[in-house]
Amino acid sequence: MNKIVVIGGGAGGMELITKLGQQLGKKGKAEITLVDLASHHIWKPLLHELATGSLNEGTNALDYQVHGTHNGYLFQRGALTAIDRDNRQVILAPLFDRHGNQVLAERRLDYDYLVIGIGAISNDFGIAGVKEHAYTLDLTEQAMALRERIQNQFMQHASGQRTGKMKVAIVGAGATGVEMAAELFHMANTLRGYGYQLESDLLDLTVVEASDSVMPALPKSELRQAVHDKLIEIGAKVAGNTQVTEVTAQGLTTKNGELIEADLVIWAAGVKAPEVLATLGLEHNRANQLLADASGRSLSDERIFTFGDCAAIPQADGSFLPPRGQTARQMALLVGYNLIRLLRDPEAELDSYVYKDLGSFVNLAHYKTVGNMFSFLRGGLQVVGCPARFVYASLYRRHIIALHGPIKGALMLLLCGLSSVVRPRLKLW
Ligand SMILES: Cc1cc2nc3c(=O)[nH]c(=O)nc-3n(C[C@H](O)[C@H](O)[C@H](O)COP(=O)(O)OP(=O)(O)OC[C@H]3O[C@@H](n4cnc5c(N)ncnc54)[C@H](O)[C@@H]3O)c2cc1C
Repeated sequence: MNKIVVIGGGAGGMELITKLGQQLGKKGKAEITLVDLASHHIWKPLLHELATGSLNEGTNALDYQVHGTHNGYLFQRGALTAIDRDNRQVILAPLFDRHGNQVLAERRLDYDYLVIGIGAISNDFGIAGVKEHAYTLDLTEQAMALRERIQNQFMQHASGQRTGKMKVAIVGAGATGVEMAAELFHMANTLRGYGYQLESDLLDLTVVEASDSVMPALPKSELRQAVHDKLIEIGAKVAGNTQVTEVTAQGLTTKNGELIEADLVIWAAGVKAPEVLATLGLEHNRANQLLADASGRSLSDERIFTFGDCAAIPQADGSFLPPRGQTARQMALLVGYNLIRLLRDPEAELDSYVYKDLGSFVNLAHYKTVGNMFSFLRGGLQVVGCPARFVYASLYRRHIIALHGPIKGALMLLLCGLSSVVRPRLKLW
């Protein structure tokens, strides 16, 4: 029986593995295995909500092992470290627990087809001090560590053991940066409602952006302006045209020699693919993304496919797409479709990836949601407020339905909805 190994159960990987498991694994047509660093999946575009406690990991995390049992795939927890292409084996690093004890030794998994979709990590662009002094939002563990740090800091202010303003700098005014900024204001307000003695102007938060606008990826200047104005209205400062040259324990140093003081720095200035991809012997670009043809197949090996943030798949005009949730999903489903075809007929002609820009949305916590829908149609349709919030939330709903099917997915969403009514608005610990 053919063996397909998928590395990375993220935004794209989970939709791919569910499709392969149901269409091949469950029917005994192929053995499907998912590999991931983590034991569970949380949709990455929600990591900033996890970091502030707006999202409850208890109700939103999906356990890979259990999901695999119901959906026709096997699960191996571990990190991809190398590929033995001659023997068609993927090599996983030993697994350690949080105390540094080895749980599992190095493992080798056989494959006939290998799919790599391990996403992206924050890019520090070689700027000094980022690793030591800034928090990033690449993995669930990082979001949880950030949550603990933020909650502790609010608690110190509430108890009077920390005085003055709570100075926060967020580097990068893309979706991650601006959504995180709004979440922090929302968190401070909610904690005040829970009895924390916090001044209403406690947060001194600056969003720092190298370009001249927040959300440079939003297609319309009115939408970018709406995000900017709302950030200012809720109390944030926006420092545009500002390049950070160093992060220290005191805050950020900028190219102009200015110091932006910060007790807490969150780095959301851009991403690159994980370093391991540059060590596999597969063609890659400077951002470590694997180079693939339009079908998602690696340029170096016809048995290896890739998708999502870690893949560089060209469009018909030779351009490459930015790392985004919808591109990851679209590419992953295309790779799934192509693999199913290949198993039926190894000579089959494969489909090419054609990006369909369904739109971009930004959700500033409970303050405002803006977006642009159907961007492929004459620049698209601007949406603001409740309709925008509905569409934004629908993206996650669609993901959950893809993973669990319409009935179970709807029940899970109902459960999350009910839980948000009966549980506190913030998960504190
Ligand atoms: C806070 C935040 C907000 C965002 N908001 C938006 C948004 O509004 N709209 C949008 O389009 N995009 C948004 N994004 C970007 C979006 O989340 C990504 O583009 C998308 O998740 C990419 O999907 P993926 O499947 O390629 O990778 P991911 O979803 O990142 O999944 C990668 C998976 O690979 C696993 N992995 C990593 N390394 C290894 C390894 N060595 N071995 C094994 N497994 C590994 C990880 O654990 C993870 O499960 C946001 C991102 C963040 C962080």
